[in-house]
Amino acid sequence: MENRFDVIVIGGGPAGSMISTLLQRKGWEVALFEKEQFPRYHIGESLVPGCVPILQKLGVFKDIERVGFQKKYGITFVWGDQPNPWHVRWDETPSEITKNYTFV
Ligand SMILES: Cc1cc2nc3c(=O)[nH]c(=O)nc-3n(C[C@H](O)[C@H](O)[C@H](O)COP(=O)(O)OP(=O)(O)OC[C@H]3O[C@@H](n4cnc5c(N)ncnc54)[C@H](O)[C@@H]3O)c2cc1C
Repeated sequence: MENRFDVIVIGGGPAGSMISTLLQRKGWEVALFEKEQFPRYHIGESLVPGCVPILQKLGVFKDIERVGFQKKYGITFVWGDQPNPWHVRWDETPSEITKNYTFV
């Protein structure tokens, strides 16, 4: 059997799955190859604000919001032997965020 694709994407992590979805929506024939069986073991703790516009573009932000994950409005770092914590609020970051929160 002969398969023909416009694009072959190797890896179905966030980058590969996003570009595959966007290209497929534009009418391209996409084959996505992922070596792991999902859901796979993956360490991660929360979303950075730069993810929000991407999730909105994919049309899944409201679905994720409906699940009810804890909202996260920023982050606090304690760095090395520095005694003072360093706070970052998402609405003060330079990214093109459209929400002032992400999810834990
Ligand atoms: C310890 C740790 C903690 C993190 N915590 C966070 C966090 O809290 N929040 C956050 O936003 N980001 C976090 N990140 C970053 C985030 O995981 C990455 O930015 C993101 O996964 C990158 O996505 P990607 O699609 O480029 O690559 P990946 O997620 O690495 O996806 C690549 C995919 O390609 C597959 N693959 C590789 N080789 C092949 C092959 N030959 N054939 C087929 N498939 C293949 C892999 O199995 C994998 O699924 C963390 C990263 C690490 C390492």
